[in-house]
Amino acid sequence: MNDYLKLQGIRKMFGETCVLDNIDLEIREGELVTLLGPSGCGKSTLLRCIAGLSELDGGRILLENKDLANLPPRKREVGMVFQSYALFPNLTVSQNIEYGMKMRGLSKAARRSRCEELLALVDLEEKRDVYPQSLSGGQQQRVALARSLAVQPKVLLLDEPLSALDAKIRKNLRAEIRDIQKRFNMTTLFVTHDQEEALILSDRICIMNGGRIVQDGTPEGLYTAPRTEFVARFMGSYN
Ligand code: ADP
Ligand code: MG
Repeated sequence: MNDYLKLQGIRKMFGETCVLDNIDLEIREGELVTLLGPSGCGKSTLLRCIAGLSELDGGRILLENKDLANLPPRKREVGMVFQSYALFPNLTVSQNIEYGMKMRGLSKAARRSRCEELLALVDLEEKRDVYPQSLSGGQQQRVALARSLAVQPKVLLLDEPLSALDAKIRKNLRAEIRDIQKRFNMTTLFVTHDQEEALILSDRICIMNGGRIVQDGTPEGLYTAPRTEFVARFMGSYN
């Protein structure tokens, strides 16, 4: 399979501080890659740069060999789900899901039918006309997932989508995400600071620390052959 999303020498500064320091990463089509690292290591910043919500200070982002540099967020064909549910509170569930499609000028009929498919996918058909505040956290994240898939992105960016949820709901939604990701062969970059989540979900894991990727490998590879004590601790293979 070809490399699909390619990050080359990504740098990001906040003032004098280098938050992303020469990040190289290649993701193949249909792959689920996890960025795993402690709070503050730059995971969200990297996703925001890919989505076009934050500007780069160096490097390139290529999607199917096309440089995303000058494309605004809505032209990047990238979907994103955030840690805390970033749904529009004044729009119903179906209006939230249809929002991006409306922005892109899809007809009402096309929006409706795609919205119904997605509601079925995340098992929320009964909730189509309610407002986000009446949903549980897990339900809100399923709406956010449906909304991000609505515009048929080429890449899905998931920024700790499960970390605000209770343990049981988190496990269910984790399995649902993996299921949907496989079914659509969706190229996905998943961010977490939870090693168990990373081990279960990922095709490949990149361990991040201090704005760098310190090791990149399969879950098994990282667990059994960590190159540094930091990686070992983070993978839970160090006692
Ligand atoms: P993570 O998602 O891994 O917890 P972040 O990408 O949110 O890390 O943050 C990486 C670093 O960049 C942190 O030190 C954070 O304080 C800093 N940072 C993030 N956003 C900004 C901002 N808008 N202005 C200044 N510093 C920021
Ligand atoms: Mg973050």
